[in-house]
Amino acid sequence: MEIQYFDNDDVCAFSSPLDASLATDAGAQNRQLLALRKGFDVAQLTSAEQVHGCNIAIVDSEHVGCGALDINTRIPATDALITNLRGVCLLILTADCVPVVLFDKRQKVIAAVHAGWRGTAQRIAEHTIDKMVSIFGTRPEDVVAAVGPHICGKCFEVGNEVVDAIGQEYVCGTGANGNPTLDLGAANIAQLKSVGVADIYDSGVCTYHCAEWPSWRREKSNVRLGTYIWLKRG
Ligand SMILES: [Zn+2]
Repeated sequence: MEIQYFDNDDVCAFSSPLDASLATDAGAQNRQLLALRKGFDVAQLTSAEQVHGCNIAIVDSEHVGCGALDINTRIPATDALITNLRGVCLLILTADCVPVVLFDKRQKVIAAVHAGWRGTAQRIAEHTIDKMVSIFGTRPEDVVAAVGPHICGKCFEVGNEVVDAIGQEYVCGTGANGNPTLDLGAANIAQLKSVGVADIYDSGVCTYHCAEWPSWRREKSNVRLGTYIWLKRG
């Protein structure tokens, strides 16, 4: 089932376990299905070629609809999207990585972030807030955030290079193979708190545990869950 984060006069955001990847035909069909069911315009759906980097794009009129149904038109090499355009649905794809959505209640600005361990190490969630502040005058205390389904701190077994990049304080224990396990969600929540975002919802769903949700580690497939956010038209 979908997880709904926000749904009010201004904004709607949710995650769906239905495959949203354009690697196969199913993803485009599921995007169209969700657009009808949830009430966003699929022609204005905007997504990026996510590369585990730290590029953050401001989605303006020329980007609207990039990567909606055609993988070749995605915004290149970008892992977070920000917009203040109403009706434009931002989409982030994940399968174990952390999806984060952000809504500035006062300035009416939204963002969607893909934070795997590399993006988390580059503090992409924090930098997305910084960009909302510098470009749209966002006050972090006006931002509500939601952290979607991702691999949990008990399941995400990693090598020492990942612990070094994210921080020892996010190690939760030892995994089945004897390596440390790390809580990427907690690291992203800490980043948001460090820049003044206080209102943070955590879905608490582990993609690896919960077979309904796509997990790269469990399935090693192209299937991706979608996290969607858009500002409603007035
Ligand atoms: Zn888990």
